[in-house]
Amino acid sequence: MTPFSLEPGRYDELVRIRRDIHRHPELAFAERRTAAIVRQDLAGLGLDPICGVAGTGVVAVLDTGRAGRTVGLRVDMDALPMTETADVPFKSEVTGAAHTCGHDVHCAIGLGAASLLCKRRDTLRGRFKFLFQPAEETLEGARAMIEAGALEAPAVDVLLGCHNSPQLDTGRIGYRHGASMASSSAFVIDVRGAAGHAAHPRSGVDALQALPMLLAGLNAIRAKEVAADQPLILSVGRIQGGRARNVICDAVTLEGTCRTLDDTVRGEVEAALRRLAQGTATATRTQVDVQWHTLAPALINDRDTLDRTLRAIERCLGADALVELDAPSMGGEDFAWYRQRVPVAHLRIGSRGAGRSTQLHQSDYFCDERAIETGALALASAAAELAAS
Ligand SMILES: [Zn+2]
Ligand SMILES: [Zn+2]
Repeated sequence: MTPFSLEPGRYDELVRIRRDIHRHPELAFAERRTAAIVRQDLAGLGLDPICGVAGTGVVAVLDTGRAGRTVGLRVDMDALPMTETADVPFKSEVTGAAHTCGHDVHCAIGLGAASLLCKRRDTLRGRFKFLFQPAEETLEGARAMIEAGALEAPAVDVLLGCHNSPQLDTGRIGYRHGASMASSSAFVIDVRGAAGHAAHPRSGVDALQALPMLLAGLNAIRAKEVAADQPLILSVGRIQGGRARNVICDAVTLEGTCRTLDDTVRGEVEAALRRLAQGTATATRTQVDVQWHTLAPALINDRDTLDRTLRAIERCLGADALVELDAPSMGGEDFAWYRQRVPVAHLRIGSRGAGRSTQLHQSDYFCDERAIETGALALASAAAELAAS
């Protein structure tokens, strides 16, 4: 098969779409304008998009009419609740919302891949299902899409996803076999004591007594309960409690996150945290409750799917484009929920412009939009290959 190529006119159109979305960022589950742009472009390709999936998601199917598998391509659309400070002519016009994670570029990549596949529909096999998903930043959108039936009718056999990466030069595609991104869980520890006069400590039960035990205990989980070669980040980011300097503290709340690359380890950490809470409560005469919420499981790439994806990309973009990442990311990605249903492969699309050094989620994040072309070509090549058998 001749490698895919993006026509200059279409590339310019995708850049225009990207900049339009960038200028008008929308937060999780509020991506209405973005979804309308996506819908209009997909309809212009001859597809019949369904809107309102999981609230603001858009789904469209390209059916070649020939035997083959159904390959899903997942794209996220939401922005972050922050104000952009980057000096670009298409800067966010919305105070308190910005595409500082590059999901605007992802939308253009997804639409670019859709146009490449539509143009070649007479030579391809199987079906391609484009899933434009809301609310990745809150790690809620993927589950909402699954619950809304986005992986059914037609049933998706295999799913591709990607994220732009400012750690890689534009034009490169990063990948990693096995665990690629961490599972992410949020926990809240509520400690209840009893208020009293600070001059008479025995008149109350000081909830703050639990604090050093809990913080030390959390560090001990990392040191004593989890194998040394297992990546684990257990952080408390917020502590609130107390009423006044002369009142014994009757309530304190700790909020934190747990990141691991192994769902079994995550379960062990949760169990250890609950034991720690119970023991602390006994020792301090407080009541300690733990709420644990898994926001995303670990993202594990399916070996066969990733291998075939890489072979297809190599044929299209050349072997030099591919970069094997030496470490997984400890960030969470709700794309991981899909892999509980179907085999997945997730790629990092290099988006580091020359001389630029920025990071995702920074207020001046600069995502090199030339990544649109690389991303679209990579996803379309891989999808065509995966659908063929
Ligand atoms: Zn993000
Ligand atoms: Zn992102």
